[in-house]
Amino acid sequence: MKPWSVLAVFKTVSSVPTAPFHEASAAAQARAWARRSLGPRVKVRRRRGGLILSYRQCKGPALVLAAHLDHPAFHLCRVTDKGALARVKGGLPREFLKGARIEAFASPAKDNRPLGRGVLLEGKSDRFPVSWTEAPARGRKPVFAMLALPPAEVSGAWLRARSIDDTLGCALVLETLRRVARSRARANLTVILHRAEEVGFIGCLDLIRSGSLDPGDAYISVETSRHMPGAAPGAGPILRTGDKTGLFDSDLLAFLEESAERLRKKGLRFQRTRLTGGTCEATAYQAFGFQAAGLSIPLVNYHNRGKDSVEPEAVRLDDLEPAVRLLEDAALRLPASHLRGSMRKRLTNLHRKTSPLLKTRF
Ligand SMILES: [Zn+2]
Repeated sequence: MKPWSVLAVFKTVSSVPTAPFHEASAAAQARAWARRSLGPRVKVRRRRGGLILSYRQCKGPALVLAAHLDHPAFHLCRVTDKGALARVKGGLPREFLKGARIEAFASPAKDNRPLGRGVLLEGKSDRFPVSWTEAPARGRKPVFAMLALPPAEVSGAWLRARSIDDTLGCALVLETLRRVARSRARANLTVILHRAEEVGFIGCLDLIRSGSLDPGDAYISVETSRHMPGAAPGAGPILRTGDKTGLFDSDLLAFLEESAERLRKKGLRFQRTRLTGGTCEATAYQAFGFQAAGLSIPLVNYHNRGKDSVEPEAVRLDDLEPAVRLLEDAALRLPASHLRGSMRKRLTNLHRKTSPLLKTRF
C-alpha cells in the first residue's frame, strides 16, 4: 500500500499557509496541481464558497467528495512594529495558546516563509495580543497567522503537520479524482474544496444557497476526525455513520459499506462508527435535503490540541490508501446504484412514459 501519491498532493497544498477566509493560496496550489495532473476531462470552476472540479463521462448523478481548504488560525489586526492583535478563527485549544509561537502571512501568501514571527501573550476569549520575535519588514503587513508548527513531516508510520484537518481531506479527494480521470471510466465524480468550514461551514452553505449544486448527487464529506473508541489510528478509514448532531443517510452508508466489503476481501481495513467529537459538512448538506454521509481518517491532536501544549496534528500513513481505494470504487459503482438520484431519474422516465394513461376517466 503506497500512501505516497496522497502525500505528494498533501505536500503541494501544504506548501502555503491557510486560514478561514484566507484560502486563496491553498486554492491556487490545488488549481495548479489540477492543471498539471488531471487532464482535459476535468472541469474546474471557482465559486465564492470554494472550488468545484468535475469529471462527467455519463448521464445521471455524480458522487461528490467534499473537503475543506481552511484550518483554525488567526486573523491579525492592529499590526505595529511591536506586535499585533490575533483573533482566533476556529476551534484551537484556547488554554494552550498563551506562549504559543505563531507565523504571520500576507494573503495570498506565495509560500510558507512568514512575513513575521511572534508569540501569543495572555488573551481574553478569542483575542490574543502578539509580541513579535521577528517583526515584519517595514511596509509589509501580515493579515493572518498560523501556529508555528511543521507544514508536513513524515516520521515513521505517521504524517505530522500543522493542518491535517482538512488539507489531508483535500489531498484524498484530489488523488481519487486523478485516478478516476486517468482510468477514463464511465462515471461522474465531483470534488468540492470548500472555504471557511472551521467557522460554521460558510463556504459549503454559500455553495448550497447559490443553487449550483445538484440535489440528485450523493455527497460524501471527507475529513479527519478526533480519534476515539471505534476510530483508532492505523485501523483504517472510518465510514462515518453520523456526527455530534445526528445520523447520515443510511442508503448512502450502505452503498459505501458495499465498497468497503469488496475491498476488505483484498485485505484493506475499514472502521465504521458515529463520530461524535464534532460536526462535519455532511450535516450541512443533510439540513438542506441533500443525500449525505462521511468518510474520515482518525486524527491525533485534533485541532492542534496536544497533551499540555499545541502540537502538530497526526495520522497514520497506512490509513490513507484504503480511503482513496474506497472512494474510487464508490465513484465507479455509482452509475449502476439505486441511490436517490439514480432512482429519481428512472422513476421520472417511467412517469413520463406512462402518465398519459392517467387521462382515462376513473
Ligand atoms: Zn475539518
